[in-house]
Amino acid sequence: MAKQVFRIAPSPTGELHIGTLGMALVNYMMAKASGGKFLIRIDDTDTARTIEGAEKRLLEGLGKFGIVFDNPKNILRQSERGDIYKKVAEDLVKRNLAYHDDGAIRLRAPQNKEPIKWDDMARGAMSLPAIDRDPVILKSNGLPPYSLGHIIDDTEMGTTVAVRGEEWIASTNEHIQLYNAVYNKDVFKKTIPTAWKYCHIPVICILDNGNKRKLSKRKDREALVENFLTEGYPTRAVIEYLLTIYNTDYEIWREQNPNVDWRKFNFRSEKIGSNSPLFDRDKLDSIARNIIAEMTMKELEPEVRNHFGDKLSEEQYKNVFTLLAIDRGTERPRKDICKYSEILTEFDYLFKPVKMTPLLKKYAELISGVSDKDTWFPLVKEKATDFGFKNVREFTQAVRVELTGREKSTDLYTISKILL
Ligand code: GLU
Repeated sequence: MAKQVFRIAPSPTGELHIGTLGMALVNYMMAKASGGKFLIRIDDTDTARTIEGAEKRLLEGLGKFGIVFDNPKNILRQSERGDIYKKVAEDLVKRNLAYHDDGAIRLRAPQNKEPIKWDDMARGAMSLPAIDRDPVILKSNGLPPYSLGHIIDDTEMGTTVAVRGEEWIASTNEHIQLYNAVYNKDVFKKTIPTAWKYCHIPVICILDNGNKRKLSKRKDREALVENFLTEGYPTRAVIEYLLTIYNTDYEIWREQNPNVDWRKFNFRSEKIGSNSPLFDRDKLDSIARNIIAEMTMKELEPEVRNHFGDKLSEEQYKNVFTLLAIDRGTERPRKDICKYSEILTEFDYLFKPVKMTPLLKKYAELISGVSDKDTWFPLVKEKATDFGFKNVREFTQAVRVELTGREKSTDLYTISKILL
């Protein structure tokens, strides 16, 4: 593939949505794979819905995931370009391809009713009937709806691939016909392809009482990226999860290349698929669990500190890190947590006082002089029957349950040394 120009065009109408992150990721990967450019513009013509500060938070949010643009100093904002759109719309009126109507300008639906065809990079050959109504291309407030802004801006940006959500498929006929009206004098005769290819990608859905529906900002915590960060998922886990849902090849590639940076994956549009993926929390958790298990303590410590800030004392950090270090870097690393907030539940016994039962008192005395695991194990083994247990397993299990309140835990020797 020759160098291509990709872009995203988010509307600053709220907090960073998981779909926007996914869209940015897909564009970023495809731009990288082609050696081309990845740009951003801001579609803020719906001024009533624009939220103060949303653009800044959007850019910062994407930055946290390592997604950066090639035009950080040169971001086109549609709200600042009213004159440009107006000029183009008036020019169409002069050419009798559009007309004024109630303060707005409408495109005249061309008489040619041949179907509008395009070759979609994700879906292959597509076709829609030609438009049969005259769509508004400049609103009475002087700003364009999506269609005219898209046509003019993507031309100016030199876009060669317009990746966007599948909800735009239904109006692609209008976009192509408007493109022809603006840039091609022969609009009534023939469909001339746009200067870019379209690539429509599926929208992430969720199962709600057995029904598939779009993620909703109000109902689903999965919709907003910030929620994943607050829960303490590693950013890389969210990225890799999104890659598995937007590209059917990603998981196999990851299995075959466990240590390669995700940016090196060759993202191909044919592998996007057209089924709306269902958000799968278990899958995200399993990816995140593996990523945390494979981190070194040097990588993990700052992440954990960043998550809890001054909510944990130095003493608590020390204990948490001692437990997280167990079996790390071995062939079979432990997979205790999938997000940093789980430290509080998985290792909850670190954060409350030990209830000294008779068994724990005796056990604490027994191991008080022991300072390594190699002496500890033979000792508890030898004393198991004296303590009234059948064998060492029963003994240690009884201690584990009383000490941690759990049937399963990480290394009992280490926990004992921290708590007793
Ligand atoms: N503002 C549009 C959206 O957020 C952009 C679509 C596009 O990428 O052209 O859906």
